[in-house]
Amino acid sequence: MQLAFAASHHASRYARRISRTGVFLNAVLRVRHGRGGSGTTLLSLCTCSKQGATKLHSNFLYLATQTLFSKSTLHVPSRRNLCSHGDSEDISTSERGDGRSELGERSNNEPRVPFYDIVIIGGGMTGCAMACALGLEASLDPYKILMVEGGDKPKALPEDLSGNQYSNRVCALSQSSVDLLSSIGAWSRMVSHRVQPVRSMQVWDACSDASISFRNNQEMSPDLAFIVENDVTVDALNRQLEQLGNRVKIQYNNSVREIKVPDQSVSNEDSWVQVELASGQVMKTRILIGADGASSVVRKLCDFPFVQWKYDQSAVVATLHLSEPTENVVAWQRFLPTGPIAMLPLTNELSSLVWSTTHAQAESLLVMNAEQFVDEVNNAFWDDSHKDQMATSAGEFLNSMLSFVQPDGSAVRQLPPSVSSISSASRAMFPLSLGHASHYVKPRVALIGDAAHRVHPMAGQGVNLGFADVVCLRDSLVSAATMGKDLGCLSHLLEYETKRQQGVIPVVAVIDGLKRLYSTDNPILVLTRSLGLQATNAMTPLKQRIITLAAGR
Ligand SMILES: Cc1cc2nc3c(=O)[nH]c(=O)nc-3n(C[C@H](O)[C@H](O)[C@H](O)COP(=O)(O)OP(=O)(O)OC[C@H]3O[C@@H](n4cnc5c(N)ncnc54)[C@H](O)[C@@H]3O)c2cc1C
Repeated sequence: MQLAFAASHHASRYARRISRTGVFLNAVLRVRHGRGGSGTTLLSLCTCSKQGATKLHSNFLYLATQTLFSKSTLHVPSRRNLCSHGDSEDISTSERGDGRSELGERSNNEPRVPFYDIVIIGGGMTGCAMACALGLEASLDPYKILMVEGGDKPKALPEDLSGNQYSNRVCALSQSSVDLLSSIGAWSRMVSHRVQPVRSMQVWDACSDASISFRNNQEMSPDLAFIVENDVTVDALNRQLEQLGNRVKIQYNNSVREIKVPDQSVSNEDSWVQVELASGQVMKTRILIGADGASSVVRKLCDFPFVQWKYDQSAVVATLHLSEPTENVVAWQRFLPTGPIAMLPLTNELSSLVWSTTHAQAESLLVMNAEQFVDEVNNAFWDDSHKDQMATSAGEFLNSMLSFVQPDGSAVRQLPPSVSSISSASRAMFPLSLGHASHYVKPRVALIGDAAHRVHPMAGQGVNLGFADVVCLRDSLVSAATMGKDLGCLSHLLEYETKRQQGVIPVVAVIDGLKRLYSTDNPILVLTRSLGLQATNAMTPLKQRIITLAAGR
């Protein structure tokens, strides 16, 4: 009897939680048991290094266990407090506060703290995009929004950037990110500044020369992605925010010091989140959005469970000058045993380097003289000393078989341009890590961008995932507002979390798996991955699917 009760108790607990974490657990179980479809792929990617796979599995298992059994991190509330104002209750204008209620008085003569419907912490690419997307929404018109950024107000870029040196911080933006940036009016400004299209991508293995190339359907949309300086993106978003001055307030040089998320069973304004800023200012908000990057203070103060591990790699970035001008629309990436090196096009003469390598090599690359650095970069793209003879021969054999069966399937690999010099002071280094919050929401709090998930830069997905969060959270908040629901209500925030975890977790797992798979020169693994890469390269529909996924569609 007791056993039956315990079983049914656990089953109901499980059922309650599964709605929220169903997708996530599904991914976890599929990773662990390799049941069909992408699960099988993930399993095979993850088993490349026993130690690595065990760590990956145990960390995903940790996430699953946390979500399933930890009371402290369990935030699937009872129906009553899913929304502190009742799920379908209309919010009257007076109740909204409208941001005009700042420093008003309560009936008991207590001073009222300033109120904003939405507070966004962090004004990086995702925070600014979130503020723009919400500020431009007609259905959120009565709502007041505040964005708090820890840094200085960015200096506006000049209209003509032609004389300006390129920044060493760039991102490859996917078509979906471009769609978001266009919809909020930032993309046209970014294009008028400078963006460089990527028409094809060439990825190859230094241990075998197995390669894969991606090219979009030329008639429909020839561009796979766009390389844009982060400063250009932030500048365009800030200019849009300036136009929204009466809807979106911004505080620079301020940060969050304390956050109080009150008891959700209280169904009045006492359930709003109280935020104390470093300036000492205290305010209340209906929903707090953490867009404050990988070391998110919002995530820490609100006690979101977060799994992370440091990679044994740092990324070295620099602006490269090509030996000869070329039609520079190809993104090049070579997997070396120490990590991937990528060259992303900026202009016909310039490319941006992202070289993930051991911390020791990264440090030495930063301090060596420019000529030596250029030699190292050229060597990393051209040197054949890592080649495994067996894998190379097997790859060549497979290639010739494939070209016999499918003549167009395996195109001849293009060769990357060589580098002649680097822009002065353009070298910098970033230690790399993986991080994932097992929840992206709590009542009245949501995480977006790197605050929720951080991935290795090898697939150029970081900010693209963040922009997809922005679209999804905006849509959830707009639909809540349209239905007269409270913006901080957990039911629609959970929708956001489920949808995004569905998109993010497979990407996190695949990127982590690829990182491990390519961080080895074990001959068996080199052979297996090389044959896999060659075979994938010959399968046009599969490649098209990868392109579609990378574009965020
Ligand atoms: C070498 C490298 C190459 C990359 N290449 C790509 C790529 O090609 N494509 C891609 O999609 N992604 C890429 N990424 C990832 C991408 O840069 C990040 O995903 C992106 O910058 C995250 O944006 P964010 O706005 O979420 O966070 P951040 O850029 O970290 O911004 C957070 C903001 O919050 C502010 N802040 C922090 N704490 C507080 C606080 N307590 N209070 C107030 N404000 C605060 C910070 O000042 C900052 O402005 C790359 C990353 C690296 C390191």
